[in-house]
Amino acid sequence: LIQLYIPLNFLGVLYREIRQSLVDIERMFGLLRTEREIQDAPDAVALPHGPVHLRFESVGFAYDPRRPVLEDVSLSIAPGQTVAVVGHSGAGKSTLSRLLFRFYDVQQGRITLNGTDLRHYTQASLRQAIGIVPQDTVLFNDSIRYNIQYGRPEASEAEVLAAARAAQLHDFIASLPDGYETRVGERGLKLSGGEKQRVAIARALLKDPAILIFDEATSALDSKTEKAIQSQLEAAAVGRTALIIAHRLSTVMNASEIIVLDGGRVIERGTHKALLEAQGNYARMWALQQQDEHGRDD
Ligand code: ADP
Ligand code: MG
Repeated sequence: LIQLYIPLNFLGVLYREIRQSLVDIERMFGLLRTEREIQDAPDAVALPHGPVHLRFESVGFAYDPRRPVLEDVSLSIAPGQTVAVVGHSGAGKSTLSRLLFRFYDVQQGRITLNGTDLRHYTQASLRQAIGIVPQDTVLFNDSIRYNIQYGRPEASEAEVLAAARAAQLHDFIASLPDGYETRVGERGLKLSGGEKQRVAIARALLKDPAILIFDEATSALDSKTEKAIQSQLEAAAVGRTALIIAHRLSTVMNASEIIVLDGGRVIERGTHKALLEAQGNYARMWALQQQDEHGRDD
């Protein structure tokens, strides 16, 4: 059975890759370019389906050896937990998600999934297990339906609509003359930053992954839409391993742990309450953002 399973599983992965390449060659080239840099180990295996306990263990990384970007970063996210990483622009937050996707390999320490180094797993199976709402969403030159369904091509019509509703996108799509068949991307309807972000949210919700990453996932949304989506994101994180990267602190208050990153190092960590009581960097950032929020409302 195992002998049969492996080729079938491989064919499944291959099929998906071919399907992607047929639909958007440009994008496929982009993926190949990054994928060629890191090769699967010859004995790499597929990451088994199911809950993932994710750990960064004293991770160090630099894009350029002369300038460290992450130093001694450790974090642990059990299934069902949400951990948040906050910090100024350039602190190294998005780099964490790039390492998890294995666009790059760590240079010190390791990243483990259920105790096993992620380099033990195939990149295809790893990426299959992770859903990300990135800072900047790339849309395919295809229908808005395709762009959502890309998260899970075999999803049913009802599931696509449910994901669009959860991402506060359905009413907007329904208002377009061509509805879900509207073409978007470079050669179609140009969506705003907030609309693209909501497509990415719908795509990630539909993918139904073990690990969810929100990388400033609501940064382009106005605060009303953000509040509406926030509860959907929290619901989506239930039962999964969730990493929230955020600039706006109101989105991370309920995290199991909040990690404050500065210059690639962890300078504070704890719950929202504990960090406020500690009256350190997080408490200062919080106070400043509260002022801004009130300023905006006036
Ligand atoms: P954040 O998400 O916290 O704003 P990033 O993780 O994107 O920060 O970036 C951390 C640092 O690494 C920044 O100084 C950024 O300029 C640098 N950096 C990011 N990507 C690259 C890259 N591909 N090559 C070189 N430096 C990069
Ligand atoms: Mg970033």
